[in-house]
Amino acid sequence: MRRLEVKTRERTQFVDITAQVREVVSDENIVSGLCVVFCPHTTAGLTINENADPSVCRDILAHLEGLVPQSRKFTHSEGNSDAHIKASMMGSSLNVIIENKKLVLGTWQGIYFCEFDGPRQRKIYLKIIKD
Ligand code: ZN
Repeated sequence: MRRLEVKTRERTQFVDITAQVREVVSDENIVSGLCVVFCPHTTAGLTINENADPSVCRDILAHLEGLVPQSRKFTHSEGNSDAHIKASMMGSSLNVIIENKKLVLGTWQGIYFCEFDGPRQRKIYLKIIKD
C-alpha cells in the first residue's frame, strides 16, 4: 500500500491529486491493473471530475453547501455533520484503470480529494493491483 499526504487550507476544498496518483502509478511500473484510491476520513471524500475549468469544482462545493448547509440543525454534537454527509455523498474510494503504465482518465478528468472539515492534514491510501 502507498500513502499520500494532503494539507488542506480551507474548511471545504477540492484538491487535485491526479499528478501525485500518476507519480505513484509510474513508480510501481505496472503495465496493466487497477489503482484503488481510498480516503480514510469520515469528513472528506474523493471524486473524479473536470480539471480544465476550476469553476466546476467551485460549483460542486457551492451546491453541496446548498443541499447540506453547515448551519442546519443536526443531532451529531461535533458541529460537523454537514461534512460527514457531504463525505458520504462523494464516497470514500475510487477505482482507476491502469493501462500501458498510465491511469485511464478522460481528457477533462482529474482525481480530487474533497475536504469538508478542514483545514487539516489528511491521508490518502493507494493500492495498485496488477492484472
Ligand atoms: Zn463529526
